[in-house]
This record gives sequence, structure tokens and C-alpha cells, in this order.
Amino acid sequence: METPKKIIIAIKDDFIRETYSEVFKSQGFFVSETKKGEEVLVLAEEEKPDIIIADIHLSDLGGFEVLKTLRRKEIVKEIPIIIFVQIEKKSERMEAIELEAKDFIAATDVTPLEVARKVKIALGEQKSYMIAIQKHLYNAKDLITDLGYNYDFKCPICGSDLVFNLIRDLSKGEKYFIVSVMCPKCKK
Ligand SMILES: [Zn+2]
Repeated sequence: METPKKIIIAIKDDFIRETYSEVFKSQGFFVSETKKGEEVLVLAEEEKPDIIIADIHLSDLGGFEVLKTLRRKEIVKEIPIIIFVQIEKKSERMEAIELEAKDFIAATDVTPLEVARKVKIALGEQKSYMIAIQKHLYNAKDLITDLGYNYDFKCPICGSDLVFNLIRDLSKGEKYFIVSVMCPKCKK
């Protein structure tokens, strides 16, 4: 059997952190949790987790400081870090992209289960595929309109062409996927 993947969940809000912790445990992860940035730095070196979720507003250091500090330490600098916010600010998402965070998640946008799924994909445990959309063929135009996008179908943040993100859903069968619209650059 595969060894469980290790994650550090550093979220300031007790309720949100505990919810994430429970969901990740139910998905087979070994979870360490904290609300302190300093503790993330210690835990990262001790446990060498596969991935870290770091709140942008921890009770001492913020997620960005944690990210920058870990990047300077040889043995932990490769650990992917997902920046977590309760409510999204565009400037923070841009900063996360610039600092090469693995991902940026806003609590208001995704459920903890969706985040766990994303993490499994990031760790190579579940596969996903980005598929370009042929805007002029079949019902693409109807779909784009029904979803409330402009006909050019570009990312409102960076202007890239949006794509379909397909996630294998093996619980339903070999050829089933969960599909969402995503910007290939912002990963949102
Ligand atoms: Zn974008």
C-alpha cells in the first residue's frame, strides 16, 4: 500500500482549519495542522510534507512570508505551497502567481473536498487534463453564453483563452470526468 501523503494545513480560523483537516484525513492524508506561521516552518523541516496549505493571514507570519522563508531553506524549498485566503483579492492572487505558489484558493470559491481533489491532482494521485475549446463548433457558443461569459471567452484576470479542465472521476467509470472552465495561466 502507498504511504499516505503528508500535508500541513495552516489556517488561522479554527472552524475552517478543522473542517479542512477532517476532509483531508477522510481522503487519506496524514494531516498536521497549525494556525502559526512559525510552526509551519518548524513542521516543514521536521515532517517534510508533500504539500502545504498556508493562510495568507496566519496569527503571526503570513502565508507569503512562510513561502518566501521556506524557499530559502535547501531541504524544504521544493515543497509546493498553496496560498489560502478567506476572501479573494486580485492583488493577492497575482502575488501568489509571482511567488510561484502551487495554487491560490479562496474559501468562498471552493469546498474543502474540491481542494483535496486539487491537491491529489497536484501530487499526481489523480489526473486532470486541460482541453482547448473550439469556440465555433457545435454548441460551444451556447454554453459560453449560458455560463455568462463574453463571446471571446477569455480569462477576466489575465486575458488568456479559457479551457475546459477535465478531472477523471473513476468513482463513476473509466470515461467519466468532472469538467470545469479554467484559465490555464491563473489556474482558476
Ligand atoms: Zn487568467
